[in-house]
Amino acid sequence: VNSIYLDYNATAPLRPVVRVAMDSVRGLPLNPSSVHRMGQEAKKRLEAARKTIADAISVFPHEIIFTASGTEANNIALRGFAERTLLVAATEHASVAALGARLGAATLPVDENGRLRLDALAQALAQLNRPALVSVMLANNETGVIQPIAEIAAIAHAHGALLHCDAVQALGKIPLDAGLLGVDLLTLSAHKAGGPIGAGALVARGNAVPQPLLVGGGQESGRRAGTENLAAIAGFAALVSEVAHCPEAKEMQRLRDRLEARIAAMVPDAVIHAHQAPRLPNTSNIAMPGVNSETQLMHFDLAGFCVSAGSACSSGRIAPSHVLSAMGVAPELAQSSIRASLGWATTEVEIEAFAEAWIGLYQRLKMRDRASA
Ligand code: PLP
Repeated sequence: VNSIYLDYNATAPLRPVVRVAMDSVRGLPLNPSSVHRMGQEAKKRLEAARKTIADAISVFPHEIIFTASGTEANNIALRGFAERTLLVAATEHASVAALGARLGAATLPVDENGRLRLDALAQALAQLNRPALVSVMLANNETGVIQPIAEIAAIAHAHGALLHCDAVQALGKIPLDAGLLGVDLLTLSAHKAGGPIGAGALVARGNAVPQPLLVGGGQESGRRAGTENLAAIAGFAALVSEVAHCPEAKEMQRLRDRLEARIAAMVPDAVIHAHQAPRLPNTSNIAMPGVNSETQLMHFDLAGFCVSAGSACSSGRIAPSHVLSAMGVAPELAQSSIRASLGWATTEVEIEAFAEAWIGLYQRLKMRDRASA
């Protein structure tokens, strides 16, 4: 399809090294639980992948539980500690937010930059009479806002709480070291960074041992039953080897900043959400005041650009963004916001084209408004 793809936070095109790693496994009868030589070979490859990923994020291999998605890892983390009171940040991805709501979690507020209110966290924890599980993402999928996870971990631990961190959007974009972050539980997913859809992991460190969600065979040391998807896991490990040091971060940031600077220079009314906060280098969430995001998406789609608004729900419809609303963004402004997210294959030519299309659309619609006024 002839298009300019700026929706990497939804999913990214597969990296060539990932494809090669997957092709070396795909189609072979490799079940790591089999005792024969093919099974042993499968087990060897599975454990090699586990070690590659563990080394890259500074954890022990046995702390990694492979899953089929980030969503599944988040489900194991949140459902795996039923005895704890659950606290989740207001800007979490649906796989934490919707599940948290179902499990009766309390919501922790963020400030106008989308950063967790640490005072509110400490206060909420101080009031509990049961140990808690706190869930705060490392980087937000809609705005790119990065949370001060190490500080949050210190507060959580001071109150005897465990910290779960959804790092799905961080992988390959900012450094990821579970030890430095001080988290107990960490969620990863391969497909946002150019790995396969269908490979994720929950890292469960030290004494944080979740109850399994899937029970059956003893795979993943009894923590997640079901035959491991070795091709996807091999792709995941190849991805992590390639992106552990965020090779494209500088270039993505240069292009993202250029996009924002061009739009701000031509359209001073444009609002770049959370641009004061530490953000991922690849994400830009921009409001075109007075133009609703569905109209923008339709125009951009017709012009060949893939961008998104809020977070796409499975129906493909656009839901109002709970992230922007938690940051106190006015509903009209939130409903005129779209997200562009860049990735490993994004080029300067694409960014220039999108900046021009954005400015062009704004000017055309404003001219039309003036003519009809
Ligand atoms: N967490 C965040 C922050 C995400 O952006 C996503 C994907 O949209 C997920 C979790 C879910 O990951 P997966 O698509 O692997 O289930």
